[in-house]
Amino acid sequence: MAQAGADLGLEWLGIADHSRSSFQAHGLDEKRLLAQIEAIRAYNKKRPACTLLAGTECDILKGGKLDFPDSVLAELDYVIASIHAGFSSDEKDNTARLLRAMENPYVTCLGHPTGRLLLEREPYPVNLPKVLEAAAETGTWIELNCNPWRLDLDWRWWHRARDLGVLCCLNPDAHQTQHLRFLDLGVTVARKGWLRASDLVNTRTLPQLRKLL
Ligand SMILES: [Zn+2]
Repeated sequence: MAQAGADLGLEWLGIADHSRSSFQAHGLDEKRLLAQIEAIRAYNKKRPACTLLAGTECDILKGGKLDFPDSVLAELDYVIASIHAGFSSDEKDNTARLLRAMENPYVTCLGHPTGRLLLEREPYPVNLPKVLEAAAETGTWIELNCNPWRLDLDWRWWHRARDLGVLCCLNPDAHQTQHLRFLDLGVTVARKGWLRASDLVNTRTLPQLRKLL
């Protein structure tokens, strides 16, 4: 992934495998995650063209609890928190679940906030104005998932997010090296959503990013 990132001219790339509850996606348990963090730190010592950041895409469990304890999250450079299972048909439930996750100080970014899969699955009901306000209050970034099946958060919401001062993080959701190219699609959607370069986390240099984190 680092080599593919370097080939695309990326200065840095975050690695965020799924967490243990997403077993269908081979989510990492605590032990494997800690080993991955170590491997990433060792890799970065070689001063590669594309520096890796150690992250996780941590499941937000029912009720808003996270899939890893804070002691594990504290070891990471960043944490994406996402709902992958157990969607509620109740807007209040889903909204409270996201809000509770964002209140965790180790959560950096909210992943695909509506869970939609285009042409396949409708978004779960969620109060997005509330989520955006909470993101602004807690300083949580929001993902623009660049996978063409997701493109979540939808472009129509970004203008509002931006005006609240919420930062957007373009994530390719890459499950293989070729998927890093989804970033191009994300840039197009971000522009359609009236985002400026300064509204994106991805435009930061590595030192700027580290400061932000
Ligand atoms: Zn996800």
